[in-house]
Amino acid sequence: MAAFWALVGLIAGLIASIALPSAGAPKVIERPLFDQEMPSPARLQLDRSQQGLRDSLSSIQQAIATERANRILPPMFAGQRIDRVTLASGEKVVALTFDDGPNPTYTRQILDILQRENAKATFFVIGRVAQGQPDLMRRIAAEGHEFGNHTWTHRMRFADSATAAQEIDNTSALIHRLTGKTTRLYRPPGGTLNNGLDARARGLGYAIVMWSHDTSDWRRPAASTIVQRAIANAQPGNIILMHDGGGDRRATVAALPQIIQTLRQQGYRFATVQELMTLKAQETQGRPT
Ligand SMILES: [Zn+2]
Repeated sequence: MAAFWALVGLIAGLIASIALPSAGAPKVIERPLFDQEMPSPARLQLDRSQQGLRDSLSSIQQAIATERANRILPPMFAGQRIDRVTLASGEKVVALTFDDGPNPTYTRQILDILQRENAKATFFVIGRVAQGQPDLMRRIAAEGHEFGNHTWTHRMRFADSATAAQEIDNTSALIHRLTGKTTRLYRPPGGTLNNGLDARARGLGYAIVMWSHDTSDWRRPAASTIVQRAIANAQPGNIILMHDGGGDRRATVAALPQIIQTLRQQGYRFATVQELMTLKAQETQGRPT
């Protein structure tokens, strides 16, 4: 019975914890929403076995996670894989994305360029790397860029559910603790899917963010090659993959101004991944059925 009451307390805590203030939304609507949609602890028909308790808790956590994700991402993208975001309007907007940081040298240089060029980007950070760079994390946030989750250890091999939870949940928790930002964007390290990690991310309502343009900058080609790969076949909604960490990124830093300037000359602007998704969601909502 002690375990049962401990669980009831935990559930109450979880339900209390979901009353997060969301930007722009009046706080008063938050509690009724959950009163209607979430089972109250008293109504829960909890199985007394340990497994039953875990299953019940897990489904409640899932419901909470889905609700949270829906407040952050347009619901049409929750749990979905995205390679690019096709915009019916043809609005000329692309997303620059950087993986494996933040790096004290290269991420700073990239932020300087983005600031100078007035462009926004999305940074898929590694938890254990980000942990050591709190100031850099805060700078990324303060300058209007966006975070995505790239696991805690850049894990590519299979992860069981407990390991996947640590890799993903701890990384997003760290991002939130350092910057106050909540992310529901997941980019699989090495682009590796079906290894348990993407299932965890999908289950929590993350979008699985891949890319339309892989610069393969981690192989350290010439800057001019990175530029060519980034700007080839420019189309609205493209997602360009680069790296700000994980090795020598001088060529990426050297390529970035030209990538931005070339695309800008073609009429493009630079949005975060979530801004692309929001544009798409607005188009979809506005479409007659
Ligand atoms: Zn990576």
